[in-house]
Amino acid sequence: MEFRCIEECSQCCVEREYYPSKRFGKIGVLILPEEEERIEKLAKSNGLKINILPRIGISEDRNSIPIKILAYQLMGIEKNGNTCPFLDTKSGGKSPHGGFPCKIYKDRPLACMAYPLIESEPIKLDQKCKFCKENGVADENLDSEMESLLKIKEKMETRASFIWRFATGIGEQEDKQDLEYDWILED
Ligand code: SF4
Ligand code: SF4
Repeated sequence: MEFRCIEECSQCCVEREYYPSKRFGKIGVLILPEEEERIEKLAKSNGLKINILPRIGISEDRNSIPIKILAYQLMGIEKNGNTCPFLDTKSGGKSPHGGFPCKIYKDRPLACMAYPLIESEPIKLDQKCKFCKENGVADENLDSEMESLLKIKEKMETRASFIWRFATGIGEQEDKQDLEYDWILED
């Protein structure tokens, strides 16, 4: 089956999830280190204030904080962590499939170009994507998503002994007591 965005859907640019669990807070859009400066500039030229936090770090010592950051994340603009700052919810414009348009569509992060593809072999789509909720699976019309996902994987490959994940401290009001804000070593 071919992958096609659902008419008028903007869900993946709006809804952010707790990942890998509530303790880590809501995650933002994954930004590679080499993309960070470009995204900051795009925000500035669009008159937007953005919040980029670290996402994945590495170290050779479990007792030190990460010595290198493999990925950052672009946080949502709402208090609960939702809604990408680049999503144009106000102008009345439409994306090609009729959802809210992205203000930086041609220059959007690789992670946005890869979505909803999350695994390449075998192909796996994020089941939270509205297309997947309605259709389950797709294995066609995913070439550009595949290309982007492979680039991300290549850039994030590491042999480091310890992988850290940054807890964002951002989430729903009722979950505040469960949220942490710091580097957490992956088990
Ligand atoms: S990728 Fe999925 S969630 Fe995102 S706009 Fe398309 S159908 Fe909606
Ligand atoms: S950068 Fe654009 S495509 Fe990516 S989440 Fe934001 S609005 Fe959506």
